[in-house]
Amino acid sequence: MYDIVIVGAGPAGSNLARLIGEKYKVLLIDKRDLENESSKNRINKCCGGLLAPDAQRMIAKLGLGVPKDILVDPQLFSVRTIDLTNNLERLYQRFYYNMDREKFDRWLVSILPTGIDKKFNSFFKSFAKIPGGYQIKYIYNGQEISARTRVIVGADGAISKLRKSMSKDINIPQRYISIQEWFECSSSMPYFTAIFDEEISDFYSWVIPKDNYLLLGSALRPRENTREKYDILKTKLTPLGFNFGNKIKTEGAFIYRPKKVSQFYIGRDGIALVGEAAGAISPSSAEGISYALKSSLYLAQSLDEGIDGFLDRYKQKIKDIKLNLIIKNLKSPAMYNPFLRQLAMKSGFQSIK
Ligand SMILES: Cc1cc2nc3c(=O)[nH]c(=O)nc-3n(C[C@H](O)[C@H](O)[C@H](O)COP(=O)(O)OP(=O)(O)OC[C@H]3O[C@@H](n4cnc5c(N)ncnc54)[C@H](O)[C@@H]3O)c2cc1C
Repeated sequence: MYDIVIVGAGPAGSNLARLIGEKYKVLLIDKRDLENESSKNRINKCCGGLLAPDAQRMIAKLGLGVPKDILVDPQLFSVRTIDLTNNLERLYQRFYYNMDREKFDRWLVSILPTGIDKKFNSFFKSFAKIPGGYQIKYIYNGQEISARTRVIVGADGAISKLRKSMSKDINIPQRYISIQEWFECSSSMPYFTAIFDEEISDFYSWVIPKDNYLLLGSALRPRENTREKYDILKTKLTPLGFNFGNKIKTEGAFIYRPKKVSQFYIGRDGIALVGEAAGAISPSSAEGISYALKSSLYLAQSLDEGIDGFLDRYKQKIKDIKLNLIIKNLKSPAMYNPFLRQLAMKSGFQSIK
């Protein structure tokens, strides 16, 4: 009988496991293999891999420091903002660590306490209520394995099976499909580019330099000609000096955009959600690592006082994440309303020449 089974070893799940692993008997499950780099079964998390100031602050708060071999070239101190709808462009100062996202996740797993049971290459399938807790089932090596636990934590990201199986009625955040392609690139590009174009998406697209590659990503509304729109984006960016020549790989992932605070859902009974599974992600920038680290810290603090009543304590603590989501949604029109964005960009406020 485990005390806590955590489904998902991304930043939210592994941070939670690290913080509670010495106090509780923990099982951490992930379909990725986050220990064995040469695994045949390699699934990478599709991500821009930028560590934004909020995530840097959380890492400081957790008393951690990022090892330098996680970083990739170049470190980014500006955002080139391109508004294709209004034909405007500006440069703004920002501070991002540019990193290899897979290495970041592996590093968080590498610092887990030794007492944690880790089951990688394992696909969480289902759970059922039993006296005193839950029975969960997962698939490892083609075999179905079950385990019993008092608490389940869903840290399984934007397509959370746990969130979905808890109730069909839960107010799920708006979902976008991200397509991200990697291209070979020999010249250096010293900024992260954010692209706004209502013909492509009511969210945004991005270009990120990463060592000898250029990543072109876009968050697109599902079932609205996503591939065609992505290709139009590429065509529109080419005259602006971007070279999308030799493609190395294509990735895809769902991304949540919580436009209402009610879409942030932390669970019920003995099941808690953290990170993007809970809907904790910026609705304006899609920055999710700080939210994953913060929500998992709050859940760990709630569990510090024992399992009884932990969800009520977690509910209290996450009030500031809810407030943050409200503020981010209030700020969104300045970025996503073409008229307001035009005014903001034309004013040149806070931009760099
Ligand atoms: C294209 C894209 C670009 C992004 N760029 C950035 C960025 O630059 N900076 C930033 O801060 N945020 C970025 N985000 C958001 C960020 O990646 C997420 O919000 C963040 O990873 C959430 O962390 P998490 O631990 O909650 O979930 P995840 O990182 O998604 O981890 C979930 C884990 O659960 C596992 N899992 C899922 N289902 C199962 C199952 N059934 N069985 C077993 N394991 C399972 C997965 O393998 C995964 O390891 C981006 C997102 C996308 C899609």
